Amino acid sequence: MCNTRCAGRRASRAGIAGVLTLLWLACVFVSLPASAACLPNADPSIRALQVQVDEDANAALKKVASLLKTELAEPIPNSQRLASLYSVQAQAYSILELESKARDAVFKGLKFTSDNTDPVRVMLLSLYAENVYDQAGIAAAVKTTEEAQAVQKRGSLEDICLLIGRGLLQYRQDREDLAIGSLTQAYRSSTTSAFAEPHALAAGVLATVLRGMGDYSQALALNQEAIDWDIGRHAPLALSVDRFLRGRILILMQKYAQAIDEFDDARKLSAMLNDTQGVAFADVRVCESRIELGQLIKARAACENALFTFIASRFSDEVKETEALLARIDLAEGHPEKALATLNEVLDHSGTDVLPLRVASLYQWRARTNAALHNYRDAYNDLSEYIRRYVSTNDADRTKQAVALRARFETDREIERNALLKRELDLSHEQSQRQAQQLRWNAIAAVSGVLVIALLIYFLLTNLRFRKQLVRLASLDSLTGLPNRRRTAELAIEALAGTTAAEQPLTVAIIDLDHFKFINDRCGHATGDYVLREFARLGRESVRAGDTLGRWGGEEFLLVMPDATVEVAIATLERLRTLVFGINLPPSGAGLRVSMSAGLAVRDKQIRSLDELIARADAALYVAKNEGRDLVRVADEKFLTTTGVRRAIRQ
Ligand code: GH3
Ligand code: MG
Ligand code: MG
Repeated sequence: MCNTRCAGRRASRAGIAGVLTLLWLACVFVSLPASAACLPNADPSIRALQVQVDEDANAALKKVASLLKTELAEPIPNSQRLASLYSVQAQAYSILELESKARDAVFKGLKFTSDNTDPVRVMLLSLYAENVYDQAGIAAAVKTTEEAQAVQKRGSLEDICLLIGRGLLQYRQDREDLAIGSLTQAYRSSTTSAFAEPHALAAGVLATVLRGMGDYSQALALNQEAIDWDIGRHAPLALSVDRFLRGRILILMQKYAQAIDEFDDARKLSAMLNDTQGVAFADVRVCESRIELGQLIKARAACENALFTFIASRFSDEVKETEALLARIDLAEGHPEKALATLNEVLDHSGTDVLPLRVASLYQWRARTNAALHNYRDAYNDLSEYIRRYVSTNDADRTKQAVALRARFETDREIERNALLKRELDLSHEQSQRQAQQLRWNAIAAVSGVLVIALLIYFLLTNLRFRKQLVRLASLDSLTGLPNRRRTAELAIEALAGTTAAEQPLTVAIIDLDHFKFINDRCGHATGDYVLREFARLGRESVRAGDTLGRWGGEEFLLVMPDATVEVAIATLERLRTLVFGINLPPSGAGLRVSMSAGLAVRDKQIRSLDELIARADAALYVAKNEGRDLVRVADEKFLTTTGVRRAIRQ
């Protein structure tokens, strides 16, 4: 039910156009047809006013106001007449859906009649039942109605009138089961022509209740009775409303073409009454029906007409509903993006003002739109939301006995439809999940592939580094950091080969520290080590970039100088000899100096191997030692061959 919502809506609007709209809104949201006087007044002048209310409620109100003024000015006002006039005023306000004013008029009238057997009091109570919407007021009205009913003769006009009032109150208490009981009783008890008015009233109310319960054929037949009555008493406003309601029943029956006819009739009547909002309400339903028929162009035109009026009238809910219908058209025309944008907008601002079931169906439409856009996850979420809302709306209904049938009927159909869509969406969802999973595995595989490769590269690089380190360590002398003997020999052989090929000179020198044993003995082995390191440092600084200085063993070093003449070599060695002389010794070595001797040999044509070249250098070193040490001597071939010193050195 939307009593409070509708009441708030009504309170904010005034004027005849507004009043007409209010009536429409009441029909659309409260879903009850216009009021009819259930009890014709016994006084012919009052009866005439009652009839006028149906034709022109505002004119009737004016007349009643002046009559009330006159009556109240009387020295002894006629209570019965005052109560009757207030009942007409309440009836007029009721048809204009100004229910708080209608209730006020009822209260004023009730002051003048306290007898429950008085038909005017019964009429006032029935009008009160028609115009009360808050649950506390409804409960109180049920009590007074029952009290009044208790004193009525079964099947009397008063009894029937109060039964209809009770049925209305029960309907507003969401007790359709009880409402149907009361209304059916009123309807069945009023079949004689004398009871035509309450009969038509009961039929109209019952049609609405039964429509809500899914009993469309019954609702349609009862609605026809109300229409016949409207036609018979020339009530165009009530007729347009009843036709509109007929159209809505037909929509529910999925008879869209027939529904359009009814809305067209309702629309014409509204246009005749200058009720632009009534026209707009008819247009919206025409739009909805045409969408169902696939007449999208006409549907759009109808919706746009309605939207124009709703925007101008600031009917925000109707604007939203119409926009949602336009979104459905966009979707059907193959513009799901546009539809989605509209539905997002509408759902973002749906608040609590739109009927829950309508909001629920918006989710269903957005689900379809998202599915059209292959946003299956969103579609699935929307559909779940739709089902959740649909079920929760229907859960409330399920608590009502009488609605159980309708709920099953309607829900089964809907659920069947949704189950189908859900299955479709589930499948798509599953598929997209499978794809996502596949993608994830691929990504994982790719990443692990990259990782493995990276690791392999890392290990390879680390291995290479280790290997290089090992190689380096294996080829270096740990004390001096110079190439060790093996590495020095390799480098020397390479240099020999290279310079031979390039026909370049090559000079090698054997350098030996003098009296090193003595230094060791005097200053200790550590100092000896220090001297060796210092020699290496000075040696590295003295030689050229392409030269190789390596530790040949003990305190002996080999210097290989590719592309160096004897002069250059001697100069280098002399410089080194001077530097070595400057190595500082600890106090224990006071008076001692470090010196070196070097034997130099130049490769010539007779030399075939490194050994031969080194042997010559050795011989020259021997000469240097012999000549007193701290000297650089060059090998002399003649000397070597003639003296056989070489063999002597080796030994
Ligand atoms: P000469 O002038 O004739 O070359 O006399 P020398 O004492 O230098 O020659 P010798 O061959 O008699 O002695 C070499 C000494 O070098 C013997 C050995 O203990 C020492 N020696 C060899 N390697 C190392 C080393 O790594 N550290 C130290 N502290 N001493 C070493
Ligand atoms: Mg030596
Ligand atoms: Mg020595």
